[in-house]
Amino acid sequence: MSHPPIPTVSLLRGDGIGPEITDAALAIVEAAGAQLRYEEVPAGESALRTEGTPLPERTLASIERNRVALKGPLSTPKGEGFRSVNVALRQHFDLYANVRPSRTLPGVPSRYQGIDIVIVRENTEDIYAGIEHFVGPGRSAAESIAIITRVGSERIVRYAFEYARKHGRNKVTLVHKANILKMSNGLFLEVGRAVAADYPEIAFVDVIVDAACMMLVTAPERFDVIVTTNLFGDILSDLVAGLVGGLGVSPGANLGERAAIFEAVHGTAPDIAGRGVANPTALTLAGAMMLDHLGQTTAAERVRQAVYAALQDERLRTPDLGGRGDTRTFTRGVIALMK
Ligand code: NAD
Repeated sequence: MSHPPIPTVSLLRGDGIGPEITDAALAIVEAAGAQLRYEEVPAGESALRTEGTPLPERTLASIERNRVALKGPLSTPKGEGFRSVNVALRQHFDLYANVRPSRTLPGVPSRYQGIDIVIVRENTEDIYAGIEHFVGPGRSAAESIAIITRVGSERIVRYAFEYARKHGRNKVTLVHKANILKMSNGLFLEVGRAVAADYPEIAFVDVIVDAACMMLVTAPERFDVIVTTNLFGDILSDLVAGLVGGLGVSPGANLGERAAIFEAVHGTAPDIAGRGVANPTALTLAGAMMLDHLGQTTAAERVRQAVYAALQDERLRTPDLGGRGDTRTFTRGVIALMK
């Protein structure tokens, strides 16, 4: 009997806590029986030091070739400094859909129960298109331009509805600010309404972003799939991560026709980097999303079930979740639960 070829995944360990949580995620994914080869490539601050650029050509070439990457968080300097490598990767590979699922996890302390929300964030347009400049003498003003296109809006809203259909979800909420940003967000909403008409079996509502924030903290169970523009999606996904226990547990996937990059929603956590206490859950669950993407669904489910079980044990959970464990004890605990 012939076996399917073992896929090669580009591996970007990331900055800050990136290398620590990547080691943990790889160990758990391997213990679950995943069949993967890794091609490690440099990116971020460490690449800037060793290669003179935060996003070397060979890293892009590796992702282009393998079409799948697992990526630790990468730091982006505030204000001056190099451009966000995350944004550059999303734009280079046209990874237009950023899918960020967050659900209540048994045992994880949080203010809410029964949350199961997937944010589908448009990932290449809006104010993150990177079109910014200073205006006037002495940098007296600055201008950032938000670009929203009909094509970009159509494909992300369609992606959200297709996702809902495939995963048996029954509601899509489009979050926007079309009352003020009448053209850009007005276009997004207009296209969203037209696409929704093709999916009569899935409920569709639109909500203004400020009201959506209020509703997310007062009645989060009213949300199922959320589709939104780049900036709002960035902010709302941290908010929703907070509803289920914090940034340490929320994974994400950046998807397009040419490649798929899996990562945690959180950043490099410089405040705890190198201390061995980082929570590897989000990146590990991103690894499970990657296994699903590669058709290795049994291994993906083994990862998820073992992580969910370990999270119920206070001795294993990391301190961000009120636990007494650390990265190593949690990782060992997850692996032990798979045996
Ligand atoms: P952050 O997500 O790194 O940290 C916010 C808070 O959450 C910190 O207190 C941190 O300790 C905690 N935290 C985050 N992940 C955790 C984990 N796995 N375990 C335990 N605690 C965790 O956000 P920030 O401090 O605003 O950003 C730091 C850097 O990360 C910045 O350079 C930013 O640009 C970058 N960033 C990268 C990505 C990415 O690569 N996708 C995403 C967000 C931020």
